[in-house]
Amino acid sequence: MTEATAAELDAADPLAHCRDLFEIPEGIYLVGNSLGALPKAARRYVSVEFDRWATLGVEGHFTGNLSWKDYHHLVSEQLARLVGAKPAEVAAMNALTVNLHLLMVSFYRPTATRHKILIEEHAFPSDHFAAESQIRQRGFDPASSLVVLAPRPGEYNLRPKDVLDTINQLGDELAMVLLPGVQYYTGQVFPIADITAAAHAVGAVAGFDLAHAVGNVELELHDWGVDFAAWCTYKYLNSGPGGVGGAFVHDRHVADPDLAKFTGWWGTNADSRFEMACEFDPIPTIDSWQLSNAPILPLAALRASLDIIDEAGGIAAMRAKSERQIQFFDRRLQEVLGKRIENLTPSDLSQRGCQFALRVAGGNGKEVFEALEEANVYCDWREPDVIRAAPVPLYNSFADIENFVQALDYIVEKGSTDRDVVGKDSVDEPFSPGSDEDA
Ligand SMILES: *Cc1c(COP(=O)(O)O)cnc(C)c1O
Repeated sequence: MTEATAAELDAADPLAHCRDLFEIPEGIYLVGNSLGALPKAARRYVSVEFDRWATLGVEGHFTGNLSWKDYHHLVSEQLARLVGAKPAEVAAMNALTVNLHLLMVSFYRPTATRHKILIEEHAFPSDHFAAESQIRQRGFDPASSLVVLAPRPGEYNLRPKDVLDTINQLGDELAMVLLPGVQYYTGQVFPIADITAAAHAVGAVAGFDLAHAVGNVELELHDWGVDFAAWCTYKYLNSGPGGVGGAFVHDRHVADPDLAKFTGWWGTNADSRFEMACEFDPIPTIDSWQLSNAPILPLAALRASLDIIDEAGGIAAMRAKSERQIQFFDRRLQEVLGKRIENLTPSDLSQRGCQFALRVAGGNGKEVFEALEEANVYCDWREPDVIRAAPVPLYNSFADIENFVQALDYIVEKGSTDRDVVGKDSVDEPFSPGSDEDA
């Protein structure tokens, strides 16, 4: 394996055929961590719902095995498999930040002495805002209730031990931990099981944002005892822009009548829902957190992707390929770019997902990124100085990785200020980024 070329690895890849199940923008697409590619079948799944709408109208809510009133349940088992949960513990609903709020309404229950939320310094701003506003909403002050944990000086990643020590130190002042499964900037995998155990040991609740974890790494939320989690589906689950969000509540909590909750008609007993009585009869699953009737078209698109994932052998098969891609990417960066590029992502496989957080030595990363963009190489820029690139096992080939490394080498070597050299008209050698017919 260590000396294998991209072509050899692609020829031996059991998931290579999956690439043809997606429509991928021309060029090298390494931003599935931001917006997953379009599953070809999504057009068909959504079109079926347009047809049902056109022919059945409102009766579509109640007709057939795709009835819209039950449609959200079509994805329960598939989502449960992806996060290591029971179907009664997962729901496709709303969007990520909305779900974080709804779950914090239930799980952040501050008292005069136990009111702190632990987050990390580089939390995605939406998560930071959500935690801060929950604290204010309960009459507390983020200055004293929001604990923001930073990596040690000169380090990019939080040491797992430092996270656990902080939890222990906060002790009975800690109400809740809200941390990522995979950090969106560095790609670091957090030890969810250990963090959950540490939080529980001091009497706190453990919640996770799995935006960059679901569909990327293997998860066992139920067995790990996680209290709650939320994620989006438009990144590694390829559901399309603004796709429906996901949520998890551990089954020891789902029927707890003492949990505060914002409620709506989609959370009450489905058998009596349409009697329109005003007595809330909570569904004894995570469904009782649902508010509104489900967004059928985004769910249809999501189903197309989840079916591909199942057909590919699920997250275990995806992760197995991903680990080979990570090792190949590491090796080629080392061989071709050496010290001209730094990867902030932890080097240990167990502490990283498929995303690389690359920093260009010399500080002209932004120009390098812009030159990559011009050359139809899709990756993304995150301030202050990181190029994120994520080979996704479902549709990225080893050749994509090789081509990315070659493009990066070419641009870094030529000097990215030299725009006319790296403009996309002149870069079909050596990495053939595709035609320049894009709009
Ligand atoms: C992508 C992402 C979000 C985006 O939130 P939305 O509510 O889906 O807009 C939030 N948090 C994290 C960690 C993310 O990676």
